[in-house]
Amino acid sequence: MIETRRPAYMDGKPKGLLIDGQSVPALSGATFQSFSPSTGELVAELALADAQDVDRAVRAARAAFDGPWSRFKPAERQAVLLRLAELVDAECDDLALLDCIEMGRPITAARGLRGMLQRSLRHFAGAATSLHGQTLSNSFPVDLLSYTLREPIGVVGAIIPWNGPLFSAAWKVGPVLATGCTIVLKPAEDASLSPLRFAELCLEAGVPPGVVNVVTGAGATGAAIAEHPDVDKIAFTGSCETGQRIIAASAGSVKRVTMELGGKSPNIIFADADLDLATPAAAMGVFNNSGQVCAAGTRLFVQRPVYDEMIERIAAFTAGLKIGPSLDPETVIGPLVSAKQFARVSSYLDLGPQEGARLVAGGARVTGEGFDKGHWVAPTIFADVRDDMRIAREEIFGPVSCIMPFDDFDEVIGRANATRFGLAGGVWTRDIGKAMNAVRRIRAGSIWVNHYFAMDPSVPFGGYKMSGFGREGGSEHVEAYLQTKGVWIRS
Ligand code: ADP
Repeated sequence: MIETRRPAYMDGKPKGLLIDGQSVPALSGATFQSFSPSTGELVAELALADAQDVDRAVRAARAAFDGPWSRFKPAERQAVLLRLAELVDAECDDLALLDCIEMGRPITAARGLRGMLQRSLRHFAGAATSLHGQTLSNSFPVDLLSYTLREPIGVVGAIIPWNGPLFSAAWKVGPVLATGCTIVLKPAEDASLSPLRFAELCLEAGVPPGVVNVVTGAGATGAAIAEHPDVDKIAFTGSCETGQRIIAASAGSVKRVTMELGGKSPNIIFADADLDLATPAAAMGVFNNSGQVCAAGTRLFVQRPVYDEMIERIAAFTAGLKIGPSLDPETVIGPLVSAKQFARVSSYLDLGPQEGARLVAGGARVTGEGFDKGHWVAPTIFADVRDDMRIAREEIFGPVSCIMPFDDFDEVIGRANATRFGLAGGVWTRDIGKAMNAVRRIRAGSIWVNHYFAMDPSVPFGGYKMSGFGREGGSEHVEAYLQTKGVWIRS
């Protein structure tokens, strides 16, 4: 049954910026609107932050960093994170609904993130009491004891995308709370509500005002964060082009920067693979979240002996995927996030056949009753794709799979690596030696063998090459919010 309930947070009132624990309008009074990608309805009116609002938020974050928050003991930060995990869990259905309504993630998939959110917040809670420096034996001629202190970096500017708003907010705020930093978080303009509500829950959990601030707005708001001289670190997730602009803007004050950018990830199916296992993963490795996933396995390399069979299998699997409104629990393929994204993906649907790719499935907008007001694209499979085609080289960020045949191991590894990106990759084979060899040779930050796409707060995720630098997940995630002080004491 289609979900008809609306979260209490969607009360029709304009949403302010969250600065120093208060919901406030933009100083200019400017607002913007967000719309449902399923129905085109107005979802919310939101304050549009400009550079003066960002400055207010950064000042609040700095005051909290220097003030009350700096006196919180690790165990107190841990308690706050555990309380936050409870509050988020109690409201998880509504938070998922916010993402579902505002950015179009199908409700069953949105609610499926519950476990990951809990694991993440509890992981960060654990990290809060596990921070430690080292004592170091030195050979300085005078007897001096040397050790390191790991200290919070300070004010973090976090800029997140629209494709996983709640999860992205949690993965930026979690390490901030674990380490004693403070944050100015900018959600994407198409998906602000769940990050805003998440930040309110931080306050309810006992995080002092000013530690977690949210400024809503578009690219200019993000740029104001990247340029602000009193922001110590930028944590960005988004497109490569925007990441490059942020790196340039952050140079003015030599900010620490971590970047999780796009990808064009290879998913390699060898002829000896378990094809029953590989088929759904090959399809959903691209079509999950309507292809709006940075690690999507969009370049599907299939070894020649099983090439035709795999195309048939994937096409048959794809034909069974239910396309529909995000609020329908049966829906697997929801709409694209916006008219802008729809136009972008559509241009690649036109481009594929022009470049000589063979259309096997999809290839067009979904039309008919119930689809007239949103932005659905049918899951699309192009076969016989060549490496030099733009559809094989550029990140489409839509439900478009490019299937390519290959003959031997060295050839496919070379082709898999012939990209400026390096976010992720998949390998399907029953031969453990071949799998491990491929794992070593594929230049990407995450590799899945006989699986596609898994994430966990304990395991690092991030890019090689132009897919970025820095890791989220694993110990490196929290490390990126700390800096090291070397201390010398005459003994
Ligand atoms: P998309 O084009 O798919 O929206 P982006 O990488 O541009 O992806 O967006 C990711 C986030 O970066 C969003 O929150 C967006 O508002 C923000 N953003 C866009 N342009 C800039 C910019 N020049 N500086 C900082 N942030 C930006």
